Amino acid sequence: MAAQSNRNPAEHFIKIPNIKFTKLFINGQFVDSVSGKTFETIDPRTEEVITRIAEGGKEDVDLAVKAARDAFDNGPWPRLPGCERRRIMLKFADLIEENTEELAAVDAIDGGKLFHFAKTRDIPSAADTFRYYAGAADKIHGETLKMSRELQAYTLREPIGVVGHITPWNFPAQMFSAKVGPSLAAGCTMVVKPAEQTCLSALFYAHLSKLAGIPDGVINVITGYGHTAGAAISSHMDIDKVSFTGSTAVGRLIMQAAATSNLKPVSLELGGKSPVLIFEDADVDKAGEICVAGSRVFVQEGIYEEFVKKLAEGVKSWVVGDPFDPAVRQGPQVDKKQYERVLSYIEHGKREGATLLAGGKPCDRKGYYIEPTIFADVRDDMIIAKEEIFGPVMSVFRFKTMEEAIKRANATEYGLAAGIVTNDLNIANTVSRSIRAGIVWINCYFAFDRDCPYGGYKMSGFGRDFGMDALDKYLQVKAVATPIYNSPWL
Ligand code: NAD
Repeated sequence: MAAQSNRNPAEHFIKIPNIKFTKLFINGQFVDSVSGKTFETIDPRTEEVITRIAEGGKEDVDLAVKAARDAFDNGPWPRLPGCERRRIMLKFADLIEENTEELAAVDAIDGGKLFHFAKTRDIPSAADTFRYYAGAADKIHGETLKMSRELQAYTLREPIGVVGHITPWNFPAQMFSAKVGPSLAAGCTMVVKPAEQTCLSALFYAHLSKLAGIPDGVINVITGYGHTAGAAISSHMDIDKVSFTGSTAVGRLIMQAAATSNLKPVSLELGGKSPVLIFEDADVDKAGEICVAGSRVFVQEGIYEEFVKKLAEGVKSWVVGDPFDPAVRQGPQVDKKQYERVLSYIEHGKREGATLLAGGKPCDRKGYYIEPTIFADVRDDMIIAKEEIFGPVMSVFRFKTMEEAIKRANATEYGLAAGIVTNDLNIANTVSRSIRAGIVWINCYFAFDRDCPYGGYKMSGFGRDFGMDALDKYLQVKAVATPIYNSPWL
């Protein structure tokens, strides 16, 4: 069984922040929802209400889109020289960094994020993502084309317009920066709808964006539920593009809404069931460290028994507890729904006859804590092998040959990511080219960088966050053609 920590944040001298921002952010102002409705946001550590947040609905989305449209059509942001947008975005990044501790604490109480991880990685990385795209803001340009007849043409890469960003709860800082950063650099204006479970930091970023000098109406944040506020965004006739991250089921609804409204382009970063392939030449201890976040871990038969034994040993030092405790490696699940969902998958695993190596039940404490759970001897046809669990549950499979491992790793409707652990260059090269996934990590896992595009193949979606690929999502190409000498047009 994994270790548990029952210490509370007060023992770590961390001040739990006063929540300052709970209203919708429209046209540079924090406002109540038109209906006056609010909803509770729950602390997953304690199951207690943190605060109530304005519940945005269709009318609020309409107001936010109106502000964003006006800021796009008539405001300065898309018209500013790129270097001016860069200057303001750099200021925004500095303000995020100055507020790192508070932002990290907000994500820890709102979403169960590990505070020390958020403080040292998530929030600084969000600031750097804004810096990365700030650097791109004055380097957006098209091409000069020599056409086949007596014409010349050039292309302009123009901002796509008003963007709707809809995000999930798992990485609030990365989601906000990965979506807002490139669209700001491109000169777009936007309506952001964060996940209802983790809205608080998005409102804090909105406040900081105003302090940084981002003009009113450029960033609007509508907090609320998916089927109301989210659906109002995806079906809106005056939103030019939707950038969505979340489940495949909701991604499908977003695409349908876009198809039946104004045919807005969408980009979808969806679910996954990512494989990690561990070959028998690998160092077993290192392989164990690499695969911690893997959901389907395929281990070659020569090292299978040793690997499984060490995994069961290793999980004992995996401390679960309050995300403010620096010793803790795993906090609570984000909410009751997710907690119950993960536990029901664990029951499926038990019922279907997988070998329970570790965990398998809730932690014996208040809050949405689940023991890190490992199933061995999992078969490909089991539910835990096929469906996305999105919780601390790992399934371990045994394989014989590389060809077999590739085939089984690809036998999923998803194609988000994959990992390979081997020292054999041929295996690494062959497998990385054969796996149908948007990113393949060799001898590392979950290694994200803002310069590295991230997104799915197959039903894990299309479009990329991060890297210069993400900037392209928020630009459209205009070609301008004109006659030149000796042209019959002249
Ligand atoms: P979700 O799909 O339930 O919700 C995501 C967002 O969509 C939320 O803001 C939600 O309010 C909104 N939404 C829900 N219904 C909607 C509707 N009908 N119309 C418009 N918006 C709607 O996902 P979640 O539970 O918040 O997050 C977990 C999922 O996100 C997992 O499937 C996970 O794989 C996926 N995810 C994918 C990536 C990636 O990069 N591919 C990254 C993180 C999370």
